[in-house]
Amino acid sequence: MTKTYDAPLAHMRFALDHAARESGLASIPAATESLTEVADSVLESASRFAGEVLSPLNPIGDRTPARCTPEGVVTSPGFAEAYARFRADGWTALAAPIDAGGMGLPSLIAAATGEMWAGANLAFAMCPEVAAGAIHALTHHAPQELRERYLPALVSGEWTASMALTEPQAGSDLSMLRTRAEPDASGDGSWRLFGRKIYISWGDHDFTDNIVHLVLARTPDAPEGLKGISLFLVPKRVPGPDGALHDNDIRAISLEHKMGIRASPTCAMVLGERDGARGWLVGRLHEGLACTFTMMNEMRLGVGIHSLGLSERALQLARAHAHERHQGRTIAGPNRPIIEHADVRRMLLQMKALTQAARGLVYTTAATLDVARLAEDESVRTAAAGRASLLTPVVKAWVSESAFEVASLGVQIHGGTGYVDDAEISQIFRDARIGPIFEGTNYIQAQDLLNRKVIRERGTTLNALLDDIHKAAEHLPEDRAELAPLRTQTLQVCARLRDAATGIVETAFTDADLVGSVAYHFLHWLGTLAGAWQWCLYARSAAARPENDATARATLDAAVFYAAHILPRALMHEAIVRAGSAPIARVPPGSI
Ligand SMILES: Cc1cc2nc3c(=O)[nH]c(=O)nc-3n(C[C@H](O)[C@H](O)[C@H](O)COP(=O)(O)OP(=O)(O)OC[C@H]3O[C@@H](n4cnc5c(N)ncnc54)[C@H](O)[C@@H]3O)c2cc1C
Repeated sequence: MTKTYDAPLAHMRFALDHAARESGLASIPAATESLTEVADSVLESASRFAGEVLSPLNPIGDRTPARCTPEGVVTSPGFAEAYARFRADGWTALAAPIDAGGMGLPSLIAAATGEMWAGANLAFAMCPEVAAGAIHALTHHAPQELRERYLPALVSGEWTASMALTEPQAGSDLSMLRTRAEPDASGDGSWRLFGRKIYISWGDHDFTDNIVHLVLARTPDAPEGLKGISLFLVPKRVPGPDGALHDNDIRAISLEHKMGIRASPTCAMVLGERDGARGWLVGRLHEGLACTFTMMNEMRLGVGIHSLGLSERALQLARAHAHERHQGRTIAGPNRPIIEHADVRRMLLQMKALTQAARGLVYTTAATLDVARLAEDESVRTAAAGRASLLTPVVKAWVSESAFEVASLGVQIHGGTGYVDDAEISQIFRDARIGPIFEGTNYIQAQDLLNRKVIRERGTTLNALLDDIHKAAEHLPEDRAELAPLRTQTLQVCARLRDAATGIVETAFTDADLVGSVAYHFLHWLGTLAGAWQWCLYARSAAARPENDATARATLDAAVFYAAHILPRALMHEAIVRAGSAPIARVPPGSI
């Protein structure tokens, strides 16, 4: 039985092929070789690294978190050595641009390896994930000199990165930022930064000599609010012309003691205790938020990827426990493995159906981003970018909440043993709780989806997605009676969601409370439908396999389960969305 993380390579390959086909990536020549010839060997090596190196460290990190010392942050036992191996094996360079020393593989492959790192050890996985986001932001926005100086070391993993946005008074609302940046007196174009940041993941550690912090700050005379924020690159140590590193005026002053991801140091940072932390502008002055969003979008998909990894790990642990634990009588006799009880199988199927739907959705979004980058035709690139931007908040919020549900079911299957601290499933449950909170809370995602991606576009991108979901349901074979509920319900939910979205686009301008009141359920309605989309695609392939193919049979069973137990949630989300703003708007804040 599974004791360490065991990557589900066959499922991953199945989902990867579907995502590549459905997004159009499979037919783009620039990606074909990676998908056909490189992917399998990359996934196999990653699965060994995840299972053998990262997974055994996961409970150690939970019990022995990173700690802050006068010399800096010391990470959990074994983590720095694991990072050295991770780097030496080239994993930090996987999807990074070739001209910066990376391998330039598709994001789709990086999503699959990311799932493995997170499933094996999320706290560790977050470190290279932030660096990948920073590489992306610098590639797109940093001037050439900064790119040349910092990108190669980030790509090789010699240095890591952090994203420093949050301050005590500025969380969801970044317009409240107070960290300030002043032009350096030397006039050499650099800046001096002063302020405090909180909750900075991997803001300090002992993995590498240097950390590249991307810091949001306000410049003198900048406009109030979001329009006055700029992005700066602030290294922990400033590289001199000779390559020597000189301490900068930025440090971690304490670490948070957290519910989960305890091995990931969450730092309170101070900048400018002496003459100011030296920094360099990334992107244009006052356009910091737009630059940060390049990184945030990567990291929001990243939350989906690591939530998927946690779901898979919870499923593995629960499945193993359900076979090992004996309780109660079934028709086979007394003292039977609990997996023989229908309710335990219900919970396992719920975990499996949600996890595999999440995998399809996460991979499809990653593949769509690749299409937006690689397609030759500009109109294809534009459509893919729009689709990815619509799907990203859904992936971040729906997958992170379903991971928490899956982890909670995993605890339930473990009974009392799942509630004690030593159980890895208890760690997974605690680790999964951060997904709905960071990288923009799930409400911020829902608001982004409904306001910016549906209402502002008057439903155009949404309707194109609904067309594709409709097609996937229609293509289910009509002669397979077991798939009829999936087909019929998916078609109905598509039509009803399209209708409701049209109504929202019309009324949002006259009802100021509408978006705030219904956005959360609108997102989960679409998430539930997007999960059904993935099951339609999987079920179509499985139905084409021979009757005696056990894997195909299991896929069809899970698709039938999704239609019976999960897709009906769409009715609940619809009812709440259609109730509009009144049930909330009529209640004054003071009366709750
Ligand atoms: C473990 C951990 C790691 C983190 N890592 C990083 C990092 O690396 N870098 C970084 O910069 N930050 C990081 N953060 C910060 C994280 O991004 C913020 O916690 C998150 O954005 C939410 O901000 P907040 O905590 O201030 O909550 P608040 O903004 O105070 O939100 C509290 C509640 O109010 C709701 N709310 C707030 N505003 C609105 C609104 N306008 N409309 C409706 N509802 C609203 C929220 O949805 C939420 O439910 C991390 C946090 C944690 C806990």
